Amino acid sequence: MSKTIPFNIPYLSGEEEQYVQQAIQRRNLAGDGPFTKKCQILLEDFTKSPNVLLTTSCTHGLELSALLCNIQPGDEVIMSSFTFVSSANAFVLRGAKIVFVDIRPDTMNIDEQKIEAAITDKTKAILVMHYAGVACAMNEIMEIADRYHLFVIEDAAQCIDAYYHEQHLGTIGHLGAFSFHSTKNIHCGEGGALLINDKKLIERAEIIREKGTNRKSFLRGEVDKYSWVDIGSSYLMSELNAAFLYAQLLKIKEVTQKRLAIWEQYFKALDGLGFEINKTAYQHNGHLFFIKTKNKEERSRLIRSLKSKLINTAFHYVPLHSSKAGKRLGQFHGQDKFTTKESERLLRLPLYYDLEEGSVIVEFINQFYLSICK
Ligand SMILES: *Cc1c(COP(=O)(O)O)cnc(C)c1O
Repeated sequence: MSKTIPFNIPYLSGEEEQYVQQAIQRRNLAGDGPFTKKCQILLEDFTKSPNVLLTTSCTHGLELSALLCNIQPGDEVIMSSFTFVSSANAFVLRGAKIVFVDIRPDTMNIDEQKIEAAITDKTKAILVMHYAGVACAMNEIMEIADRYHLFVIEDAAQCIDAYYHEQHLGTIGHLGAFSFHSTKNIHCGEGGALLINDKKLIERAEIIREKGTNRKSFLRGEVDKYSWVDIGSSYLMSELNAAFLYAQLLKIKEVTQKRLAIWEQYFKALDGLGFEINKTAYQHNGHLFFIKTKNKEERSRLIRSLKSKLINTAFHYVPLHSSKAGKRLGQFHGQDKFTTKESERLLRLPLYYDLEEGSVIVEFINQFYLSICK
């Protein structure tokens, strides 16, 4: 084979240019313009969240969440260590200490049974990250959060069109954040959305996102001038990005279907190589497909072998608690039984809308395992 297979190719619907042109012609390019409104309404309908605000990124959606939860220096936030840095940074920026607990090996998500023992007087929130668009055990987690009066923030960066039973991911906790970064199922280069599911937080979210002003109430005619009313920052997505995103949002079902077909192809051919999700409980979105090798050494050999066939694969997060910043800013509660071990075995295969070489990739992986069995 002669063609390189990249790890990811960002999706294009083909209609992005047309909508971006429209935005340019209107000369209305700041945040909260017509395309932003269209995207927000579409996302509210699609997810059933009471309020969706487009943001510059998922990272900023999480930072906005930490502000909304009034995280103060010394507060503790519980999360798994197998997640992206932004899950932790958003709270660290407010002075919080991160308390990491172990993951479940089947989904790589936070182990809901490890949360309660990590709660102290200082615990303010639980952050859940649904890896690969496969849901965390939200019933159990929300029950614990209710009992201890904790906020639940969903890092739903990978979760557009993914569900927990009937509920869209990102709509179950008090707040949820999507990413529309170009590595995600649909994107606008850089972008995100915050889902505000607790209605009590909506008004303040609008203010914080608008630099701490009540500009939104002013634009709605509710006050006669706008001024500084709270802390805040600038988390609004530009209209150009919103126009691009709108073209992609219109195709979301088609994108998911295509990705799930590739996912299923991998799953059938590589069953037994480590993706162990319980498929009846979760309707995921084919965001990524991983296998698990025996150990780190075998993973390195497989990566090299596939690379020699021009196939690009990728492992994922270095557990945060073992990173330089994580050691200083967080602490692991309980035993790291799975986080390190399982993350060292995990390997992600190419998965994108235009991928056509699934069967070739599978064949090379099977060849690799045949060759090491000899
Ligand atoms: C991609 C991703 C992010 C960051 O998203 P941005 O939009 O780039 O800020 C955060 N968390 C997880 C789990 C991600 O996969």
